[in-house]
Amino acid sequence: METSPQMKIPSDLRGVIDSGMCTACGACLAADPGLDLEMDPSKLVYRPTGVGDERAAGVCPAIAVDFPWLHSKVFPGRQVTPHGVVDSVLLAQSTDIDRNLKASSGGLIKEMLAELLLRSDIDGVIALDEVAGLEYRERLVTDIEDVDRLPGSIYHAVRLDDTLRILREQPGRYVLVGIPCQFEGLYTYIHRHEPELADRIALTVGLLCGWLYSHHSIRAISQYKKVDPDDITHIAYRGGGPVGKLRMVTPERTVTVGRRVDFSYQVAFDRSFNNTRCHVCVNHSNFLADIVVGDAWLPSTVTTRSGISLLICRTPEARSLVDDLEDSGRIVLTEASVEEITESQTHRVVFGDFAYAYADYRRALGLHTPDMFGPNHAETRPAAEDAVAHFHKELVRKQELQARGDYRFLWWRKATKELPRHLKKYLDWFLVRVLRIKSLKGERQELSRDDMAVFR
Ligand SMILES: Cc1cc2nc3c(=O)[nH]c(=O)nc-3n(C[C@H](O)[C@H](O)[C@H](O)COP(=O)(O)OP(=O)(O)OC[C@H]3O[C@@H](n4cnc5c(N)ncnc54)[C@H](O)[C@@H]3O)c2cc1C
Ligand code: SF4
Ligand code: SF4
Repeated sequence: METSPQMKIPSDLRGVIDSGMCTACGACLAADPGLDLEMDPSKLVYRPTGVGDERAAGVCPAIAVDFPWLHSKVFPGRQVTPHGVVDSVLLAQSTDIDRNLKASSGGLIKEMLAELLLRSDIDGVIALDEVAGLEYRERLVTDIEDVDRLPGSIYHAVRLDDTLRILREQPGRYVLVGIPCQFEGLYTYIHRHEPELADRIALTVGLLCGWLYSHHSIRAISQYKKVDPDDITHIAYRGGGPVGKLRMVTPERTVTVGRRVDFSYQVAFDRSFNNTRCHVCVNHSNFLADIVVGDAWLPSTVTTRSGISLLICRTPEARSLVDDLEDSGRIVLTEASVEEITESQTHRVVFGDFAYAYADYRRALGLHTPDMFGPNHAETRPAAEDAVAHFHKELVRKQELQARGDYRFLWWRKATKELPRHLKKYLDWFLVRVLRIKSLKGERQELSRDDMAVFR
């Protein structure tokens, strides 16, 4: 087993289970075949069925992620900037309006997957697919027709262990689609235990990722909207335009909830419902993926009618794939810069302003905290300690209420005690994104109207 010199290998997964920081990447299951995943009945996130041993702990991204070592393995010899390895940054949109409107942002992932499946040196795509109701699993897709059946972004906790399982069991070269902590676990496992698997990864398509939610979110919104969560046969969070709506389908009816304006949605998808690891996550920009796709939440895109994707191409091969799609008329694109990554996701998210500070705070309290320092650490502006302490106190209280299923109390809490903070969030959004206050003050350069004219 190869280990990097800096890594201290802990003895088991106890801290991950107790803190509720398992994001179900599946790396420990590959390292310790005696383990499986189950739903934690109180936290409503996945957890391993046992504490495992040093082998399992040594690959778990909720214990440690050694970014310098992983960068040297995944992108050998490439320069690592505070945004990770960057070849180019683009805004792009599928020219297929149906594909675009069904997708979460610009429909870029489906365009890329359909193109890649035509290539003779690629045997398939491993991506998350719907099973039934709230259950999603990854599967091997080899037929182009199946690409458009893959779901848009799924924001509740799902099992992500099948990518590694399929890769280990099926010979072939595959394109993988995944969130950042999934690739952290996958590559740590591969480069520690089965480095030969790395050659079978043709390309990784990563999602930008700000958070995922425990199943308490679904239980809360179901209660507010009078839906039995056990009756949900289909759920979708995005589609139908840039922001999209949450849709919960039961045999009797379909409930549609506006994600930006519905107050109950804002309660049920409050950050306190996130997996706890998301609060200390410093890798929202998916440092280990060859190509990263997210939402272009920019002042310049506020008025567009359909979604636009922000793309980070980390390798020349990824860029050439995007250029091929443009040449064949399947996407339109415009050049952007790393400024647009920060602007669309916020400095706090991209450089871990809150996450690094909160990780320090948790360590000082002796709480389980993953050991990870990304390339963005050099530019972090740590959040103030009193803000972090306030967040932690609120988080502990709200997680207690969630564990008791007291979602009604959480609704009233947001409508009273937390209302000023909640309204300030909307005001900030309006000032920055709609009134473009930063641009008017000369704090940032907008993309020109000509650059944006290619998009719907
Ligand atoms: C949990 C989560 C959090 C996110 N947070 C942000 C954010 O903060 N900022 C931002 O800009 N973008 C975020 N995204 C990404 C964004 O929502 C879109 O997924 C992305 O822009 C791609 O859009 P698309 O239209 O090209 O792809 P789509 O056509 O929507 O395709 C989505 C693809 O992602 C796969 N997928 C869906 N859900 C998951 C999942 N949970 N785990 C693994 N694979 C999955 C599907 O199999 C499909 O292949 C997040 C996505 C997820 C899943
Ligand atoms: S985060 Fe991944 S490696 Fe860690 S316990 Fe969960 S499934 Fe296992
Ligand atoms: S925010 Fe980080 S820890 Fe949370 S789901 Fe996304 S990549 Fe994983």
